[in-house]
Amino acid sequence: MKPVIALVGRPNVGKSTLFNRLTQTRDAIVADFAGLTRDRHYGNGRLGKHEFIVIDTGGFEPDAGSGIFKEMAKQTRQAVAEADVVIFVVDAREGLSAQDHDIANELRRLGKPCVLVANKAEGMHDGTKLVDFYELGFGEVHGISAAHGQGIRDLVELALEPLALPEPEEEGEEDPNKPIKLAVAGRPNVGKSTLINTWLGEERLVAFDLPGTTRDAISVPFERNGQRFELIDTAGLRRKGKVFEAIEKFSVVKTLQAIESANVVLLLLDATQGVTDQDAHIAGYILESGRAVVIAINKWDAVDSYQREQIQRQIETRLPFLKFASLHFISAIKRQGLGPVWQSIVQAHKSATRKMSTPVLTRLLLEAVQFQAPKRSGMFRPKMRYAHQGGMNPPIIIIHGNSLEHVTEAYKRFLEGRFRKEFDLVGTPLRIQLKTSS
Ligand code: GDP
Ligand code: GDP
Repeated sequence: MKPVIALVGRPNVGKSTLFNRLTQTRDAIVADFAGLTRDRHYGNGRLGKHEFIVIDTGGFEPDAGSGIFKEMAKQTRQAVAEADVVIFVVDAREGLSAQDHDIANELRRLGKPCVLVANKAEGMHDGTKLVDFYELGFGEVHGISAAHGQGIRDLVELALEPLALPEPEEEGEEDPNKPIKLAVAGRPNVGKSTLINTWLGEERLVAFDLPGTTRDAISVPFERNGQRFELIDTAGLRRKGKVFEAIEKFSVVKTLQAIESANVVLLLLDATQGVTDQDAHIAGYILESGRAVVIAINKWDAVDSYQREQIQRQIETRLPFLKFASLHFISAIKRQGLGPVWQSIVQAHKSATRKMSTPVLTRLLLEAVQFQAPKRSGMFRPKMRYAHQGGMNPPIIIIHGNSLEHVTEAYKRFLEGRFRKEFDLVGTPLRIQLKTSS
């Protein structure tokens, strides 16, 4: 599970700026798609070898009796509760304020590990302006500049240090017996627990013991048609004896963590509700995570043909970035349409972990270029030389050549289409990275 960092501080200290710096979109494609709603308060962060989830918060307004401030304080408390560590942000230029004290008191009460940072500290080399902040009682004050990107790496190291994270495990997809990690994601009430209980009640499904998993953990290993699966910590669900039940509160963090630790995510939608904003958010997270994905629209039994048509159109317009995923119409209650979902999950996993050799990739690349070369841009004509695989789940293809910064997004999509077809990649995002050598 990725660690969770919450950013807390009064307004204007630079939390959003820091958030943006920590969560810089890894893949330009994510930002490119219209219709992709992104929840601005949650993001995936990566810095060097560290990966984490960041939550931006509104901050506490301790005197707020009601209304928006109270709501903000509530959300902030919730974020702190979900976080492993808090980055408490103050403003180095404005100095210590009464509100900083209030926030400090609240954070002390909540008892989470905190790192105190004074933002906007660019150009403040002697640190004398930061001494006042020691009064807050959080030990050392770390000067950073979110806007200029100074001190960020050290900050992340510092924040994550006490969590003593194990090295990320190597994705050894070699072992054919290794279970496919599957997460069922979706907002409350779409039918996640119903579906999972239907699955687990099926005779074809055989439970087995997986070393390292305990009975209580929300992780269920099982086998179906000879393929092993592990249903991982499923967001918003709790195991109660042999059955799963939905818990009241939907947690974005839990959803993100489940998505991140899965190989394949089954995105469940509710046909009676259509595609909501929250669905689109979750879809956006899945895309960003790079996990393989299968979409299932549940409660198909409860809608008429007009609604069916409408939801199909909504999926096209609201989730265009998941075009690569297979789509299924199911009824968890009536046990309809479930078989093909399994097939798609296995297919998505196979695609996501496909091995692509350098000679084959390079040959396909050169054939594609011969079919249609990238356009000249001013004086530059991009020249593609060879390609190799840079990763799995999601598959990454790295293309080397010259002047590749002039390659258009449209051309990248053209290449993506060719690679997808040749390697039969269904249900996984495919990332193409260009490396210019001169
Ligand atoms: P938030 O309300 O805490 O989320 O604060 P914002 O991120 O919106 O930043 C508030 C203001 O501070 C904006 O005008 C930012 O441009 C500015 N700001 C943020 N980080 C820095 C920094 O490192 N140095 C300076 N000088 N200004 C900053
Ligand atoms: P979760 O919050 O995503 O786990 O959703 P639940 O599994 O608790 O289901 C929410 C509600 O939708 C319950 O009342 C279910 O009975 C109902 N439901 C689940 N699947 C179906 C389905 O396939 N068809 C219909 N009509 N209702 C369903």
